Amino acid sequence: MGKQKRFETEVIHNGYDSLQHQGSLVPPLFQTSTFTFPSAEEGERRFAGESEGYIYSRLGNPTVKVLEERMAALEKGEVALAFGSGMAAVSATLFYLTKTGDHILCSEGIYGCTFGLLQLMNKKHQIQHDLIHFADEETVRAAIRDNTTCIYIETPINPTMKLVDLEMVSRVAKEKGIPVVVDNTFCSPYLQQPLTLGCDYVIHSATKYIGGHGDVIAGIVVGRREEMGEMAMTTLKDIGGIISPFDAWLLIRGLKTLPVRLDRHCENAKKIAVQLKQHPKVKMMYFPGDPDFPQYELAKRQMRYPGGMISFEIDGTKEEAQAFLNHCQLIKIAVSLGDSESLIQHPATMTHAVVPEKERLAMGITDQLIRLSVGLEAWEDIWEDLQQALDRL
Ligand SMILES: *Cc1c(COP(=O)(O)O)cnc(C)c1O
Repeated sequence: MGKQKRFETEVIHNGYDSLQHQGSLVPPLFQTSTFTFPSAEEGERRFAGESEGYIYSRLGNPTVKVLEERMAALEKGEVALAFGSGMAAVSATLFYLTKTGDHILCSEGIYGCTFGLLQLMNKKHQIQHDLIHFADEETVRAAIRDNTTCIYIETPINPTMKLVDLEMVSRVAKEKGIPVVVDNTFCSPYLQQPLTLGCDYVIHSATKYIGGHGDVIAGIVVGRREEMGEMAMTTLKDIGGIISPFDAWLLIRGLKTLPVRLDRHCENAKKIAVQLKQHPKVKMMYFPGDPDFPQYELAKRQMRYPGGMISFEIDGTKEEAQAFLNHCQLIKIAVSLGDSESLIQHPATMTHAVVPEKERLAMGITDQLIRLSVGLEAWEDIWEDLQQALDRL
């Protein structure tokens, strides 16, 4: 396709030439487990890596390849690998970067199952971790240990939307040669491109904004050619958390509208945040696009728009928080995010129920906290639903 085009064009065209596929406008779905060889000798050459060509879909598939090339281009990375879930992507990356006795330095809040994975890695393989607030260079430097082999960041942090200054952390990490991994699920490459800020790996739960339609569970990792090649042949191929060709095909379809969808998600979120903030039953709001948000300036610097996710605390008890969810009619009670439908959930008893109470409260996840994934409905309808549910408290 020659030189890279603008983001809105690349989401539609990158990595695919219809004329090489009998003119099929849409990338074909290669729903096959294996690939036939024209001869035994060619089979030998493919296994030896001396000849291009597919072997078996756990080692590569042409539909998956389109998705991977496109995601690498969108994140401004060299190579992407697709996985069967966001957690398969997270675990393949963390197992690739660590061995027994190593240490992972994490942002103060991380996805619930990533937290669970870290606990498992600690218990079974003595791989330690710390969760810290990456406040400034000194704090990061002081938290890095001799055995730290990976810095793992979510920004915005789920669900409190705290941000981590990616450029600052990667600057310090470079001094020590420690790779920085960013879970970019909440932003998608349209809002934030960590590799351009000096980070080394980007992970997505493609289940969320990348797919965008609530019908796929999948993951992506993007990084440099050499490391991704090693990961492809080890923690992807041998642990085996591959994506199905059909799910890759659905993601290729979802990606085409990513910028258009996100423009609307972000616009809706901004309008709803303004309303929420003024409601007497809303005690606290976490939204990077709110001018009073402590990291408003960082959000402007690091992200194209402040995103489509809002968290807020209601003035009430845990039971009242649950009653509020039950009062929502248009907005669905569900975990996940980035779908057309607005989704609402209660982190303390849902996404972060696995986190022990002490750590949970330290992360700012109180019993009153609600997380809203703002959908693509008319913003007035979303707001009217929230308003009537709040008014009933
Ligand atoms: C959903 C999510 C994951 C896990 O992804 P799955 O696709 O559900 O396995 C990881 N990180 C973040 C921030 C998420 O929101």
